[in-house]
Amino acid sequence: MAALLEVNQLCVEFQTRHGRVRALDDVSFSIAPGEILGLVGESGAGKSLTGAAIVGLLEPSAHLCGGSVVFDGQRIDQLPDASLRHLRGRHIGSIFQDPLTALNPLYTVGAQLVETIRTHLPLSTADATARAVQLLEETGIQGAAARLAQYPHQFSGGMRQRVVIALALAAEPRLLIADEPTTALDVSVQAQVISLLRRLGRQRSLAVLLVTHDMGVIAEACDRVAVMYAGRIVEIGPVREVIHAPAHPYTAGLMGSIPPMTGERERLLQIDGAMPRLGATPGGCAFHPRCPHVMARCRTERPELLPAGASRAACWLHDGEAFR
Ligand code: SF4
Repeated sequence: MAALLEVNQLCVEFQTRHGRVRALDDVSFSIAPGEILGLVGESGAGKSLTGAAIVGLLEPSAHLCGGSVVFDGQRIDQLPDASLRHLRGRHIGSIFQDPLTALNPLYTVGAQLVETIRTHLPLSTADATARAVQLLEETGIQGAAARLAQYPHQFSGGMRQRVVIALALAAEPRLLIADEPTTALDVSVQAQVISLLRRLGRQRSLAVLLVTHDMGVIAEACDRVAVMYAGRIVEIGPVREVIHAPAHPYTAGLMGSIPPMTGERERLLQIDGAMPRLGATPGGCAFHPRCPHVMARCRTERPELLPAGASRAACWLHDGEAFR
């Protein structure tokens, strides 16, 4: 199926006291309608920055320094702010980690849903209210009609995230960017929200970009996954292949860090060392100081994405040799 979103060789730089530093480098992927692409990596890898760059929400010290973003056949990375705002409200929905930041505590859930619906769709208040009830029902909120009159604090964390999902879908977007949507939730609630995202994504043929640090979430939710390290994609492929046969040593390390779906989730502890700071990326393969398979050329030559089974991996182990 033709892609709805195409990100081509995207680059982002930050202006710092010490000059410009590259935070995203040559990031490319596409997402088709009905597909969930996961973007995974440690904190600081550039995954949230990628989401922000796609929708034109970079902070003032950052700017695009190359590449393009094509949505539904139209290049959107050069659109004026007003057009981008319209696109974000109408065609691209967003969900963030903390549901409270997306909801106004002073207004009822119903008022916020109806306002969002009426801002983007030509509906009367009565029709928008009926649609708000339908959206809450679709996201699995019991007694939806009565709950319209309640305020965000009257919902539990998991229910609030369902409201946020309803709000993100209110204008019937075609692309959803979900940045750590389950991180603040209990493990059992996480699984419910993931299955809700999957169901709604399929039913509505949504293209979903799911940003997370958690390989367990990727395994549950995604069709394909792109693994990021130090501002670049180091592996991309179907989620099954990437999880069962990781082609990049960094992905293999991430896989070792998947905790069981029950119990405490931990950060990625299995890979020795830390990801380089912005502006201090080592030459050659950026992962080489942490890599158990490092070779001489890794310290000087930077690998591009190379075919590796059903995936592609930026690793010299795949330069004509099988990964062992
Ligand atoms: Fe490791 Fe070399 Fe592959 Fe980088 S290119 S991941 S250092 S083997």
